[in-house]
Amino acid sequence: MGNTIFSKIISKEIPADIVFETENVLAFRDIKPQAPVHILIIPKKEIPTIREINGKTDAVLLGEMIDAANEIAKKENISEDGFRLVFNCGNNGGQEVYHIHMHLLGGRKFNWPPG
Ligand code: AMP
Repeated sequence: MGNTIFSKIISKEIPADIVFETENVLAFRDIKPQAPVHILIIPKKEIPTIREINGKTDAVLLGEMIDAANEIAKKENISEDGFRLVFNCGNNGGQEVYHIHMHLLGGRKFNWPPG
């Protein structure tokens, strides 16, 4: 097992408000939400950052994460108004947990460019 807090959420060693789970993907509510809906969608496979993603070999997994985002967005009633998906990568990207995660944010309007 890996050593991030998300590995412990995957193994259910620590609790999380899980909203979606398949064999390869897990999604749970962010503990410090930045929007009315703020959910983290993660692969169960350990990948520290987006830099370690291989577009060809990880394409199916990434597709599953997008499918999860769409399904959850519908369930959370944010699909129609729109939402934001974010991967933070590394220091400048503001990444804190080194197990890749896609932020699904919705329920309010977001600014662009981001801060
Ligand atoms: P990032 O800055 O992209 O690495 O985002 C990490 C996110 O994980 C932050 O939004 C945190 O609030 C969130 N987070 C950290 N620990 C937990 C936890 N135990 N349960 C849910 N969300 C968490």
